[in-house]
Amino acid sequence: MSKLQLEVVTPDTKVVSEAVDYVSCPGIEGEFGVLPQHVSMLSGLKIGALRYDNDGKHQYVFVSGGFADVNNGVMSVLAESAEIAQDIDTARAQAAKARAEQRLSERGEKVDVVRAEAALQRAVVRIQLAQLR
Ligand code: ATP
Repeated sequence: MSKLQLEVVTPDTKVVSEAVDYVSCPGIEGEFGVLPQHVSMLSGLKIGALRYDNDGKHQYVFVSGGFADVNNGVMSVLAESAEIAQDIDTARAQAAKARAEQRLSERGEKVDVVRAEAALQRAVVRIQLAQLR
């Protein structure tokens, strides 16, 4: 059976490079699934969990921002940040969550609420994903 070549990269590193059976991806307009014969498409990414399946095994990957391009049997995910679930540092995510919650509770003039909410969302998703590994 044919496979889909999944490439997940960030500005710093290559996170995944693997031939897989299926990918579920957090698009800005909702989750979407990609099989090997998928038509060409381009989607923005939201903060969330990408899951890929290979030979009956699931792997979860945290992704934040960027976009996914599907073309000719290759899915390229270019994310602002990404980590496979096993590489998530839970203590770091908990500290980031506490910082973001503190900023949001202050709500002072100097607090960038949108930025703090995004940081909180990244931390919450990382903590959830770390529990799935
Ligand atoms: P922090 O405040 O802890 O840096 P953040 O959400 O602002 O969290 P990002 O901007 O998303 O961090 O990512 C910066 C870099 O740090 C990326 O390379 C990302 O993969 C890595 N990173 C961030 N948080 C974690 C974590 N909990 N575990 C592993 N890597 C992480």
